[in-house]
Amino acid sequence: MDTTGQYLLGFGIRPSFQRIAIMRYLNHNRTHPTADEIFEVLRKQIPTLSKTTVYNTLKLFVEHGAATYIGIDEKNARFDGHTAPHAHFRCKSCGEIIDLEMDIEKFLPKNFRGKIEDVQFYLKGTCENCNKRG
Ligand SMILES: [Zn+2]
Ligand SMILES: [Zn+2]
Repeated sequence: MDTTGQYLLGFGIRPSFQRIAIMRYLNHNRTHPTADEIFEVLRKQIPTLSKTTVYNTLKLFVEHGAATYIGIDEKNARFDGHTAPHAHFRCKSCGEIIDLEMDIEKFLPKNFRGKIEDVQFYLKGTCENCNKRG
C-alpha cells in the first residue's frame, strides 16, 4: 500500500481510493484548503466524487486526528494535513493562511489537570508580500 494509505491506517481510517486522494491533496497543498476547493480540484480526477463525500471525509480525518480543522477564516472551514502543533497567520489583504512554527508548548497552562485535545493559535495582519506592496 502507498504511504498515504499507511498514514490513514495509522489513525484507524480505512484507506479508500477517495480518502487517499483527499489526504494526498491536503499533504501536498499546505494552503489550508476549504472543502469546496478540494472538491473542485479532485472532481476532475474522480468524476464519481461528491461534495458530501469530501465534507464527510474531512470530518472523519479531523475526528481521527489525521487532519486538523482551522477556524481562522470566519467564512469557510479550512483544513490542514500538517497536524504537529503550529500557529496560523491570516493575511487580511490577500486572505492567505500561512503556517507559523511556534513553540506552542510554552503557552500551555502549567497546573491544568484536564486533558487538552486541541490548541489553536491564530494571528492576523498583513503578510510579507502584501506589506511590501504597501
Ligand atoms: Zn497577503
Ligand atoms: Zn497549518
